Amino acid sequence: MVYARGQPGILLPRPKDFSLDSMKSPVAFHLMVKPTGAICNLDCRYCFFLGKAELYPGSSFRMNEATLEEYICQYLDAQQVPAATIAWQGGEPTLMGLDFFRHSIELVEKHRRPGMIVDYTIQTNGILLDDVWCEFLGSNRFLVGLSIDGPRALHDRYRVDKAGQPTFDRVMQAARLLQKHQVDFNVLCAVHAANAGRPLDVYRFFHDDLGIHWIQFIPIVERINQNGATLRQEGDRVTSRSVLPEDWGEFLIAIFDEWVRNDVGKTFINQFEAGLAAWAGTPPALCIFDRTCGKALALEHNGDLYACDHFVEPVYLLGNILEKPMKELAASTRQHDFGQDKSQRLPRFCRACDFLWACYGECPKNRFRLTPDGERGLNYLCPGYRSFFRHIDGPMRTMAALYRSGRSPTEVMSILPQMEARWKEACLDSGRNDPCPCGSGKKVKHCHGRPTDSGRVVP
Ligand code: SF4
Ligand code: SF4
Repeated sequence: MVYARGQPGILLPRPKDFSLDSMKSPVAFHLMVKPTGAICNLDCRYCFFLGKAELYPGSSFRMNEATLEEYICQYLDAQQVPAATIAWQGGEPTLMGLDFFRHSIELVEKHRRPGMIVDYTIQTNGILLDDVWCEFLGSNRFLVGLSIDGPRALHDRYRVDKAGQPTFDRVMQAARLLQKHQVDFNVLCAVHAANAGRPLDVYRFFHDDLGIHWIQFIPIVERINQNGATLRQEGDRVTSRSVLPEDWGEFLIAIFDEWVRNDVGKTFINQFEAGLAAWAGTPPALCIFDRTCGKALALEHNGDLYACDHFVEPVYLLGNILEKPMKELAASTRQHDFGQDKSQRLPRFCRACDFLWACYGECPKNRFRLTPDGERGLNYLCPGYRSFFRHIDGPMRTMAALYRSGRSPTEVMSILPQMEARWKEACLDSGRNDPCPCGSGKKVKHCHGRPTDSGRVVP
């Protein structure tokens, strides 16, 4: 599992046989562990988590030996499945130093059940990675999530250090070291006001220049808390750094069009993989598109367990694992209700949406807008998601049908150009000023007969 620090929640991969629905005790759950709490060596302008340091005034912000062992022992014991993932996140977890992580592996060996497979992930800004770190990460088969926001100018716009200095060169060095040591890593790219208008520059930079084939795009939705509160999410306005909903949709659409023609099966992008899962009728690998929440908890440096990384707020504190077993806290009624709220609090507008089954209203943290009929709780990103889902519907249906018939969804890359050619023929036959044969009601020249230099896919 990889998770984006400072951004909406992403879960990859999902444990099998996972369910909280009929729980006494959950079969398995994800846990984001923050050994340094909110402490980080960077000062990314859009990071929602830095302010969480206020939760623990006077703290050392370092997970101690007792808490580390309790976490590992209790977490492995709580997973009633043959595999578990130890997921480090921050703040910046590498600030703990290598010995902390070496010791954590010794503790896993001490506490894991015979035959239990334990994977490791770490989300990092890459600043502290050197040969020794990468050798350790590679030899212990860590999956690393490295935060990069695109080419230099786009990355450096908001990802700066404590002195306000750019970080691009240091992150590129980390990427090269990870590649040199053959460490599995994916890129977590925050999408914000600075890079949302440059989707293909961002995608091609990762794909062509860096040779990276696992990419997670994370929309930045940074709310302005009118009351000055930093420990809870409030208000329905967003900062100027936030991505606009329509831009988020356009960003995904432009990259999807390039991906679906050239890179299916070679490059893995979180929203596209989740989309394919939804169209194929299999469970989503992204919690934001799941029907319920409650399966991805967050553990602070002192053992405090929270409902989710995006709700590390006093009201969502479940308890402390040094005082009450993690298993019980994860199975508590409060956590169950938190998870069910995602579907139970959906506004009518979402319940009637054609793409409810693919979206489920996305993450509750972004549900602070009014629906057209004035109901509270519509997702801020909704207009972008509706455009995106509508746009990918045709190719996704094709890929899902291939998958269900036992063929490879990658065949879509040869099928789509044939479909497009057929549509173009139909469009030319009917004349550029006639209604488009797709039934949109638009003229051909404004619909499927328009130039496709942007690579837009014809359904
Ligand atoms: S609140 Fe729900 S959808 Fe949002 S990050 Fe947490 S688990 Fe995922
Ligand atoms: S696309 Fe919009 S209306 Fe549809 S489920 Fe998602 S948030 Fe709700």
